[in-house]
Amino acid sequence: MQNKCILFIYAKLFYILPSLLIKFSATIVEKIANYIDGQLLEPTAGLYFENISPITGKAFSLIPDSDEKDVELAYKAAEKAFHSWSNTPATTRSKIMVKIADLIAENLNALAKAESLDNGKPLALSTSVDIPRAESNIRFFATSILHWSSEAHIMENNAINYTNRKPIGVVGCISPWNLPLYLFTWKIAPAMAAGNTVVAKPSEITPYTAFLFSKICIEAGLPAGVLNIVHGFGNKAGNAIVSHKKIKAISFTGGTSTGAHIASIAAPMFKKLSLELGGKNPNIIFADADFDKMLATTLRSSFSNQGQICLCGSRILVEESIYEKFKSAFVEKVSKMTVGDPMYPDTKTGAVVSEAHMNKILSYIELAKKEGGKIICGGERKVLSGELEGGFYIQPTIIEGLPQACRTNQEEIFGPVVTISSFKTEEEAITMANDTQYGLAATVWTSNLSKAHRCAAALDTGIVWINTWLLRDLRTPFGGTKNSGVGREGGFEALRFFTEAQNVCIEL
Ligand code: NAD
Repeated sequence: MQNKCILFIYAKLFYILPSLLIKFSATIVEKIANYIDGQLLEPTAGLYFENISPITGKAFSLIPDSDEKDVELAYKAAEKAFHSWSNTPATTRSKIMVKIADLIAENLNALAKAESLDNGKPLALSTSVDIPRAESNIRFFATSILHWSSEAHIMENNAINYTNRKPIGVVGCISPWNLPLYLFTWKIAPAMAAGNTVVAKPSEITPYTAFLFSKICIEAGLPAGVLNIVHGFGNKAGNAIVSHKKIKAISFTGGTSTGAHIASIAAPMFKKLSLELGGKNPNIIFADADFDKMLATTLRSSFSNQGQICLCGSRILVEESIYEKFKSAFVEKVSKMTVGDPMYPDTKTGAVVSEAHMNKILSYIELAKKEGGKIICGGERKVLSGELEGGFYIQPTIIEGLPQACRTNQEEIFGPVVTISSFKTEEEAITMANDTQYGLAATVWTSNLSKAHRCAAALDTGIVWINTWLLRDLRTPFGGTKNSGVGREGGFEALRFFTEAQNVCIEL
């Protein structure tokens, strides 16, 4: 084991590394390590695959191709750590996690650069959203565990029940590539805060900041085995986590079909399951909306992170009387959005995450044309010059003229592509909005308070934003209805998921 351990050099060099990699990405290829039992380890089989930066299309690091042996090592470390961690006072767990949050804040710039290099998102976004939110996730659950209490039910005939919320044991957390460190920490933070130990797998498409995070955990003094990070493919390392007999709960965020597959394995094993899946979110714009605020926010809700946020409003439904006004104003703004080098501070639209994903998005644009859609903005791959020539860039794209029932309006594209359609009545807008397999989020723009409440109640989605988008309070329940998932994350909902409730009844 020891000779496989990659020496951890306690130095800031680790945090400087991503910026070096950015400068010399053509020549330096670094090996990412698993984080198991407090150590940075090579995968047992010694296999790796390339980590491609979507900015250039070139490899900049190597990812462990971990298998069930690595997952077993991670499980054993987590099992060994569980007794001690679950009996560690919440105040101590909290202090260690606050230290992790502090270190994320201290290393904001290096983590943000690494996230953009790995994912293709604009540096401005990873600096202002992804990494600060990862810090907040850890800090939020580090402190919320101190304010959590369980219920008591007093019976009239001299008995008392109280709910003992116990950590589950070893839990599995699997996260996607679109908000890499943001969603990774959103899962592991409540799991660890509640006293569980964790085997986690970040997306193999964007593993780099989770690797840097493992170094932060070491520096913060997180006891060995509390968090174990196994890198690798979903159908290999991920599958080994999901099908592990003794991992008792799985928290998964990713695609709906992957979620269905995971459920088919985990459900017969009676694991607790939290599934945060895909979306095809409606953005309903009524004629009485504050037009300027709506337009500025709709640009963000359509194209932030190149449309690769599960909450992006990809179906824009506009009241008929302002359809033409909206269309020309929206097209004018979107056509001025420049797709550029994610590392430039002014870039608002960067690369999509991979070549395969770029091709999937482009194939949906072709499908939209076949389905009778008219591309009124964008619609093409964008090839940038110099070092970025091999990167994966797509112009922000607007499509109109498609029926609600077509595949382009029903399936998740998850890229910088939106459709716009008109509606005549509130009832019609709600029918169109609800007419998909998904139910993650919806946005409603209106200045009529009663209409806003009516729409919120009628929308079959887990989240409704009124006159805003992506305004998040971490205490609120987060999740979707229908094929967008099962369960809720966020606040005490997440702490409830990561604990078993035991009722204790005492006759007095
Ligand atoms: P994905 O389903 O391909 O992969 C997600 C994770 O699951 C990755 O870590 C992957 O390695 C792992 N995985 C894949 N197959 C597996 C298997 N058989 N067993 C175990 N693990 C497996 O999703 P993605 O492409 O990384 O992410 C994009 C999707 O995530 C979109 O559908 C998006 O809407 C969704 N998403 C949802 C939310 C939400 O909160 N609802 C948030 C972000 C992204």
